[in-house]
Amino acid sequence: MRNIGSGGDAPARGVIVGGPLVAMKRFESSLLFFINAFGSALAVWWLMRHQPTMIEISFFVVSGCVTMVGMGVGIHRLFAHRSFECGPVLRMCLGAAGMMGCQGSILKWVANHRRHHMHSDAPGDPHSPQVDGHGKSMPFWRGMAHAHMGWLFDDTMSDFDVYARDLLEDPMVMFFHRTRWFWYCASFFILPGLYGYALGGIEHAIGTILVGGVLKTFLVLNAIASIASIGHTFGSMRFEIPHDRSRNNAVLAWLTFGEGWHNNHHRHPRAAHIGLAWYEVDVNGAIIHALARMGLAWNVVPHLATRKRRQDMQPALSS
Ligand SMILES: [Zn+2]
Ligand SMILES: [Zn+2]
Repeated sequence: MRNIGSGGDAPARGVIVGGPLVAMKRFESSLLFFINAFGSALAVWWLMRHQPTMIEISFFVVSGCVTMVGMGVGIHRLFAHRSFECGPVLRMCLGAAGMMGCQGSILKWVANHRRHHMHSDAPGDPHSPQVDGHGKSMPFWRGMAHAHMGWLFDDTMSDFDVYARDLLEDPMVMFFHRTRWFWYCASFFILPGLYGYALGGIEHAIGTILVGGVLKTFLVLNAIASIASIGHTFGSMRFEIPHDRSRNNAVLAWLTFGEGWHNNHHRHPRAAHIGLAWYEVDVNGAIIHALARMGLAWNVVPHLATRKRRQDMQPALSS
């Protein structure tokens, strides 16, 4: 095992190369990818032979929305960026909903994501279309494949001690980390299986597992992975940020409940609401504001651009 930050030849700090932790990362990524890809292929095969009923469709839609909110509001804006604060029950619910995304534990996701912000599109970024895990530039299509999912299987990983030290001392986050495979199994199999069986019997249990469990998880994974690949390649740039290729992409934003306003987000990662124009619909940001209005969230961090706009308007308002 070699830590790039401690005497290695690559420039990024807190990147572990090789060793047992990386082997474990590759094993878990491979197993999750196999379940996602093989299960989704089975789901397509099943859909060609069975007309999906409201049982499969309702679980697909509701659990897809819950997972997307758990990933965006929970793991991304609450755990990774501390965009707002909330009580332990809501924090637990958002963490559990995010774990249903089956994209690694909260600890692992946050460490990778904070490293992404620290080194955006420069050596050290875990999933940039521009540079690989060792900081070498890549041709276009290889870069897109690496940023989308290829990075999950490379020989590098984020050092939790460097990028998520606070979370190593967080009992709730460590609980989710130790029990991560339970949550993956609940998302893929247990919850859709119980729902389908209770409402329609064994055939609907199988259909709901395939369509509402695995296929849904794979689609959510691809939507969020697209922010790293497409969201750093196609779209508009409101803010010029040094060596950062993040874009605002409306299609991605609709698919991910607002996370696709990615250039806005890179300009001020701690902001709770990242849709800055009226047409930049940010469902996750609206949920955080609704929670704040209900007294369930507080210390909500406003976007720098919004703050500046308010300051600029002050003289006009007071004159
Ligand atoms: Zn990014
Ligand atoms: Zn972020």
